[in-house]
Amino acid sequence: MNIKSLADLRKEFSTDFKCRTYLKKMRWVNGVTCPHCGNQPVLYMKNVKRWLCSECKAQFSLTSQTIFHGSKTPLPKWFEAIWLVCHSPKGISAMQLKREIGVTYKCAWRIGKQVRKAMRNNNFDDKLCGIVEVDETEVKSSGGGGGSTKSIVFGMVERDGFLRMSIIQNFKTMTIERVISQNFNNVKHIYSDGGHWLRFLKKYGKHDYIKHYQQYCDGKIHTNTIESVWSLLKRGIVGVFHHISTKYLQSYLDEFSFRFSFRKDKSSMFDAVLSSC
Ligand SMILES: [Zn+2]
Repeated sequence: MNIKSLADLRKEFSTDFKCRTYLKKMRWVNGVTCPHCGNQPVLYMKNVKRWLCSECKAQFSLTSQTIFHGSKTPLPKWFEAIWLVCHSPKGISAMQLKREIGVTYKCAWRIGKQVRKAMRNNNFDDKLCGIVEVDETEVKSSGGGGGSTKSIVFGMVERDGFLRMSIIQNFKTMTIERVISQNFNNVKHIYSDGGHWLRFLKKYGKHDYIKHYQQYCDGKIHTNTIESVWSLLKRGIVGVFHHISTKYLQSYLDEFSFRFSFRKDKSSMFDAVLSSC
């Protein structure tokens, strides 16, 4: 659904019923399916608003085993939160979300966490292919003891498509190869900077690199796409979230990856979250 503003969204999904109708359509494109066994012939029990699976006999509701499960927050507020997380280019803090949708800080934080989970579910179905730029950067995060630490983030982005980011512990070939094999499939061409630790990449596709101390771009050989990711990510961390704990850093990276992956098709982000909830 192409919703242009938060005001439009509030109008479109003003009641729990409207949200439930739309969620049902997004969650079960091919009809109601048991989340426990995948069976389709299910019986709706109107009095308790639940379905009964004829195969495994489990009962389930529209929100069973979704990010909404067990939440007392009304669905219209959830929908607003999803829209806001999708359409804030650098992300939205729990404090801001609390103010926008009118819930407690704790609730806003939990909703943000759950939305990031759905974004990860959606973004990680397909592996990367075609032309991919890779690079690494350091991101400041806060540890359990209150001090700050630096995490190494490895980024991989299709020039016109998906972005993935993973925290890595070191620059060993074995470490990076593990990330590459989890994310690459049918990659034709890889561009990176001149880091020695990336020379092995030719195993995974044609590999060209740019020596940044000499120049930033040589025709098609550049890492401008992934550089723009780093710039957006760092502005988001410093300007919006201020501190991200190391424990949750990967989930924020997944949120950024999701939004960036939809950079050319922003109107379908909201549906993508609902269909992966
Ligand atoms: Zn079942």
